[in-house]
Amino acid sequence: MTQSLAVAILGAPGRMGRALIEATLRNSALQLAAAIARDDSAALGIDAGALIGRPVCGIAITADRPAALVSAAVLVDFTQPAVALAALADCVAAGKAIVIGTTGFNAAQKEEIAAAARVIPICMAANYSIGVNVCLKLSEIAAQLLGSNYDIEIIEAHHRHKVDAPSGTALALGEAVAGALGIDLRSNAVYSREGQIGARVAGTIGFATVRGGDVIGEHSVLFLGDGERVEISHKASSRGNFAVGALRAAQWLAPQPPGLYSMRDVLGLNG
Ligand code: NAD
Repeated sequence: MTQSLAVAILGAPGRMGRALIEATLRNSALQLAAAIARDDSAALGIDAGALIGRPVCGIAITADRPAALVSAAVLVDFTQPAVALAALADCVAAGKAIVIGTTGFNAAQKEEIAAAARVIPICMAANYSIGVNVCLKLSEIAAQLLGSNYDIEIIEAHHRHKVDAPSGTALALGEAVAGALGIDLRSNAVYSREGQIGARVAGTIGFATVRGGDVIGEHSVLFLGDGERVEISHKASSRGNFAVGALRAAQWLAPQPPGLYSMRDVLGLNG
């Protein structure tokens, strides 16, 4: 019998943390090694199974990250950038792999993650949904085939609690199409429009953000041409799909050598 993979979940009481506990407890190839919350969390000491309305699983929510890592092979993080970086340092110290689901890192923070990837295996993805990663690939192919004659706009919608914009997934879609067109996203992105903005500048990639309600995550890449348009869209209807993808990444990542990997690597979508 193959041994199950021991997974620690950081941000356990959060929206994604709960979905990860659920998906871990449902997957017989995985073992919940630890469920971690902040040190002032009301969930501390509560059984992780009970937290999500399932039978008790024997793992109490803890705030002690280093101790929680001892019994885990992989840490799965869905929290916020500063917390993710602190956990990353713990994983480097303990020699453990980390799946980073947190979004909203700045350039310096991304460099920190890249440096840590020289020491431990890291998987980082703006979106762990398998469908979204297929859309990333499809957007790249569409940009290659349609070329620069089509104006590209990316629209995303998320729930009212999301704090960063555009979403990490929208930016990843932007990077995918910019890469396919051989242009730099940072110098060609238009993140907002207001007032007398003038005609659309050819070659730019526009972003539009919608926030509200309980929208889990919706993304569309529009290729607007003369007389036609192509839309590649993805709509998430549950957080379970991110959790299942992140845990698939954890299983793939655990035996890898140090390096910075993405869902493209996990799903074999490179090339
Ligand atoms: P959330 O606010 O519901 O959950 C975050 C949790 O982290 C909270 O429970 C919070 O208390 C906890 N936390 C904060 N500081 C902590 C600490 N020091 N130690 C342990 N836990 C701590 O947010 P969410 O909706 O679950 O999203 C979390 C992150 O994941 C966001 O950055 C979001 O954008 C990202 N996300 C990524 C994907 C993806 O597929 N990559 C999908 C969904 C959400």
